Amino acid sequence: MAGKRTFTMIKPDAVADGNMGAILSMIEKAGFKVIAMKYTQLSQAQAGKFYEVHKERPFYGELVDYMSSGPIVAAILEKDNAVEDFRTLIGATNPADAAEGTIRKLYAKSIGENAVHGSDSDENAAIEGNFYFSECERF
Ligand code: ATP
Ligand code: MG
Repeated sequence: MAGKRTFTMIKPDAVADGNMGAILSMIEKAGFKVIAMKYTQLSQAQAGKFYEVHKERPFYGELVDYMSSGPIVAAILEKDNAVEDFRTLIGATNPADAAEGTIRKLYAKSIGENAVHGSDSDENAAIEGNFYFSECERF
């Protein structure tokens, strides 16, 4: 059965461009409830750990630099079928391929600077949420 929670980050480009509020509004209007939320900045080491699964990919260094370049919003979100429905809401990794009306179509600049993160499985949603939030930071 699909889980009820996913994890997201509003990435440095979207925060710097002043799109944090618009993106949070889209997330709430799509029926996701915020369980935990933090405005924070990753160090290079933290960004490297978060994206460790991509460490062999050619864009890993660029990704770590970008994700630690400015503040982000991290959040745990709740909704039925959360992981899949959130991936639908954000759209394809490359905004050129993202469907009309998706967050990445509206706000992403490129395949690298693509405005938002969404977990790709229930297992990773739990790991990623635990990376940022303790039990007493969840409501
Ligand atoms: P995310 O995990 O951030 O939600 P995703 O699951 O759509 O994105 P992944 O394949 O997990 O895509 O890639 C993680 C991130 O690495 C992308 O969101 C993007 O910021 C960056 N990335 C992916 N592919 C490329 C690429 N070809 N060139 C530059 N950056 C890339
Ligand atoms: Mg991913």
